[in-house]
Amino acid sequence: MIIDLIFPGITFCGFNAFGMRRDNEGNFMPHGLASIAAYLKSKGHSVNVIDMRKLAGWEHFEHVIMQSPANVFGISTMSCDYGVSEKAAVEIKKYKPSSVIVIGGVHPTVAAEEVLKNKVFDFIITGEGEYSLCDLLERLGQNGSPERMLTGMPVDLATLPWADRDMFDYDNGEKTSPLLPHMKPPFVSVMTSRGCPYRCRFCQPSERMVFGNKVKIRPVVDVINELVHLREKYRFNSFLIHDDLFILKPAYVEEFVTKYRKNGFTQKFTCQARADIIVNLEDNIRMLADAGLDCLMIGIESGSQKMLDFMDKGTTVAQNRKAVEICRKYNIKVYANIMFGLPTETKEDMDATVSFVRQMKPDYVSPSVFTPYPGSYLYDYCKEKDLLLPVSEKSYRRNPLGGAKLKGVKYWLVNFEIFKAAPVIFIFIVARKIIGSPAANFISAIIKRLSKPSANYAN
Ligand code: SF4
Repeated sequence: MIIDLIFPGITFCGFNAFGMRRDNEGNFMPHGLASIAAYLKSKGHSVNVIDMRKLAGWEHFEHVIMQSPANVFGISTMSCDYGVSEKAAVEIKKYKPSSVIVIGGVHPTVAAEEVLKNKVFDFIITGEGEYSLCDLLERLGQNGSPERMLTGMPVDLATLPWADRDMFDYDNGEKTSPLLPHMKPPFVSVMTSRGCPYRCRFCQPSERMVFGNKVKIRPVVDVINELVHLREKYRFNSFLIHDDLFILKPAYVEEFVTKYRKNGFTQKFTCQARADIIVNLEDNIRMLADAGLDCLMIGIESGSQKMLDFMDKGTTVAQNRKAVEICRKYNIKVYANIMFGLPTETKEDMDATVSFVRQMKPDYVSPSVFTPYPGSYLYDYCKEKDLLLPVSEKSYRRNPLGGAKLKGVKYWLVNFEIFKAAPVIFIFIVARKIIGSPAANFISAIIKRLSKPSANYAN
């Protein structure tokens, strides 16, 4: 069948973002959709991607839909882009009333009941989409009448084709826009696993609802073969391992490092890691650093043990400190994710986070305002306690301009604490809002130069 897959990720970056700004938000490749595209193609379907970041506006969208030979449209959406996805579906039905619209991704998985009520979507797929969307297309081709709500069949990562980067104009997109300023282009990102066994309350169980209870890991040889292919095709100089948690099993890391070196790789790379794992698997961190790991993104979250416990983070402030020290020891940059504005958080808790940042001086600081995402334990907690304020798509934004999300939280104080923890990024975000990106870049570059120890950054 002929299908158009739609990436609706314009809530934050807007239309015309792709290739226009050298930032990750406008250019990153959504791995899930790229994987679905690859799988459907491998099964003989004709697939096209409509990346809405590449379009000039809704009129352009109409033009693209009218020109398309497809009669089936698949939209993969996160909660923040659900409004755009709904509008896209309504527009498609307006121009092509007989078309079939399938929606999947994180939001339909964690808020299935809400999405089910919206009749503009003909089918809803929860969880992983590769096998189930393919199955649906085959049944539609046979004029079958499948049920409206489909539970995604778990996929086998070992046999899944590699993400189809050409569908996302990789040469003009992600390849040119490294995630972090120190990363050298050409840049690529890869995924080696899906899922996470931990239970941070701001994240779970939504993560498990999408990927299942068991962490799935690709064979190392498959990952290395993909990297070899990407090296030949894109000659990349740096890459991101996009997993929620790459460093989980020591034997896997050892095999990865051995095969990475054996295949002649010297490229630098970045990945995410938990502080407790860094502390417990220092040998693995050393090996990875020797192989090229030059930055770790760590969920520090808070300088207050009370708040770490509230989040069920499973780490301690002492482990956070030690993890940063280990990174220093092996010359690995630290990208610290920190969070303010949680329920029960006091000024003292926030000050503890600011102190942590000032003492430990991470290379990058990514401050966020706690945002209760549907599907998370903390969303349910806030709902139960009647703390939720009405949301708009923009309020899913976690930076200081994302607006108020919870009753009882002093957002002026949250913003002030963010300013204290990460002044450069705070000023950049505010300046970008007021005077636009180029001028904001200029001002933040000057401040960065003048400011003492570390640069601040947020994605
Ligand atoms: S925040 Fe990270 S470590 Fe915690 S559950 Fe989510 S993916 Fe796992």
